[in-house]
Amino acid sequence: MKCSIEGCLGEYEERKIIHTVRHQGQVIVIDHVPAEVCPVCGDRLLNPETVRRIEVLLQTAPHPASKVPLYEYA
Ligand SMILES: [Zn+2]
Repeated sequence: MKCSIEGCLGEYEERKIIHTVRHQGQVIVIDHVPAEVCPVCGDRLLNPETVRRIEVLLQTAPHPASKVPLYEYA
């Protein structure tokens, strides 16, 4: 599928990404999320089913599989 960013000639490729969301004031990082990624501009698309699964995961996962260090840019 062609990239949806205007002027970009890339084609989306299926990749596993690290997806970061803010949930109830906390930064949540989810690894190995399937997404369509444009190799040219880096645009990412999550399909509606994936978004729904992430929402369920956020509601139901009481303990993270791992912890990551979080740094503030400024
Ligand atoms: Zn693109």
